[in-house]
Amino acid sequence: MPNITNDYYDVIVIGTGPAGFASAVRSAQLGLKTACINTRHDANNKDTHLNTGDIATMALLDSAKKYHSLIYDCAQHGIFANEIKLDMSIMLQRKDNILAEIGDKMVELFNTHKIGHIHAKARLLNPQQVEITADDTGIKTVINAKYIILATGSEAITLPNIQIDNEYIFDAKAALNIDKVPNKLAIIGAGVMGLELANIWSRLGASTILLEAQENFLSVLDQQISGAAFSLFQNQGLDLRLGARVLSAKKGNKNIAIEYQDQDGTHTLKVDTVIVACGSRPNTANLAAPEANLLLDQDGYVYVDDNCRTNLPGVYAVGDLTLLGPMLAHKGIEEGIFVADFIAGINNPINYEIVPSVIYTEPEIAWVGQTEQALRASGEEIKIAIHPIKKNIRALAMDKQEGLVKIIAHAHSDKILGVHIIGTQASELIAEAVLALEFSASSEDLARTIHARPTLSEAVHDAALILKDRVFQQSEY
Ligand code: NAD
Repeated sequence: MPNITNDYYDVIVIGTGPAGFASAVRSAQLGLKTACINTRHDANNKDTHLNTGDIATMALLDSAKKYHSLIYDCAQHGIFANEIKLDMSIMLQRKDNILAEIGDKMVELFNTHKIGHIHAKARLLNPQQVEITADDTGIKTVINAKYIILATGSEAITLPNIQIDNEYIFDAKAALNIDKVPNKLAIIGAGVMGLELANIWSRLGASTILLEAQENFLSVLDQQISGAAFSLFQNQGLDLRLGARVLSAKKGNKNIAIEYQDQDGTHTLKVDTVIVACGSRPNTANLAAPEANLLLDQDGYVYVDDNCRTNLPGVYAVGDLTLLGPMLAHKGIEEGIFVADFIAGINNPINYEIVPSVIYTEPEIAWVGQTEQALRASGEEIKIAIHPIKKNIRALAMDKQEGLVKIIAHAHSDKILGVHIIGTQASELIAEAVLALEFSASSEDLARTIHARPTLSEAVHDAALILKDRVFQQSEY
């Protein structure tokens, strides 16, 4: 039987990923007595904020881009480097140092806000009680709270006939710790994660094959952007095989044999390293005791209403645990803050229609609002402008001319309905579009907004100018 303590909190947050972390800090800022429970900490007992892997991906992608650029791009700048060497241990250490620094900052923030930080495995017992099993002693205790926020995130899906050993066959998280560049790498799944990992490892020199079950590449994207992305990635040397459903991967003496099926039949592919990046599922196994009666759907997502309320009074769920909005760190953070405010009596609803998405490849892909295909399917009358990045003079100076900006506006009201970008720094460019949609801007508003020259942002401006039929596009002159 667990000990029942007198510890009583206003808010207990389970999970310190981006959503849980934001929720805990905001709750404490609002004067609520808050505790945050998380079982993860590394060998040095450091806290890690990092169950999304997004920061680790950024760190490695940046290293990979530098390496690739030294080999392939620098000569045309008149810069020559002899004997370019790659030391994976230094590269991985740099990434880990960044993660550790963020972990330290997290602890600092928790301390500043007097948030109780409990290293334990948590299990919801009922709407006001959580059982915790301490990481170090294994002792079970029950703690009490008025409100409980579930924020345990998601974990990678595995495939039935593939044994992950994280030595030759890696899951997407462990793929950020591979300490030797593979010669021939297969990535199963060409979704967001698969593509970001492909961009890292192919830039570091791995011959990379992506096996994707769907016939359509990046089917959630605007199809013009996904078509452009497909061509660009192929030109970069990625071997993208669509309609290729992987059935199994078996480790032999010399290599790994992957069996996959496409419209021509069953094939065997031999590689030295495999990464499985086939999607994520919510971390809800053992999150709640059966008698708690927390309502989940058939895929394990926590049922919530539009205000992140579960079926249990005073229990909320945020981030990847629910189907409310996409599985994105920034969506989780917004929800974490929203719920803390909501508990404190402040109602700042989230606009799920205007959540930006980014794929951190090179070039990057970023979008907000609706796609052309979705708008056409709903019979909306629209007008579209496409501005190729190659017309942007800053991109010319940077030698990053690939990609395009696409703006879709309502044919009559001129209201911007969607902005889709593939191009260098698209993740930064999309912020302007998000703001435009948030303020219900028209394309004319964007066209009349002065943009600094020469900048990449002129490409967004120029797309808006096209919609206004202005003959002259600023960045062309
Ligand atoms: P995903 O669903 O985007 O992609 C998984 C892909 O694997 C799908 O295209 C699917 O068709 C394919 N697949 C599944 N089984 C297969 C099989 N047997 N053979 C071949 N292909 C198969 O999932 P993900 O890329 O793993 O990402 C997980 C979640 O995390 C997503 O919701 C994603 O949006 C999010 N994420 C976001 C970012 C970002 O914001 N930059 C980065 C990483 C992950």
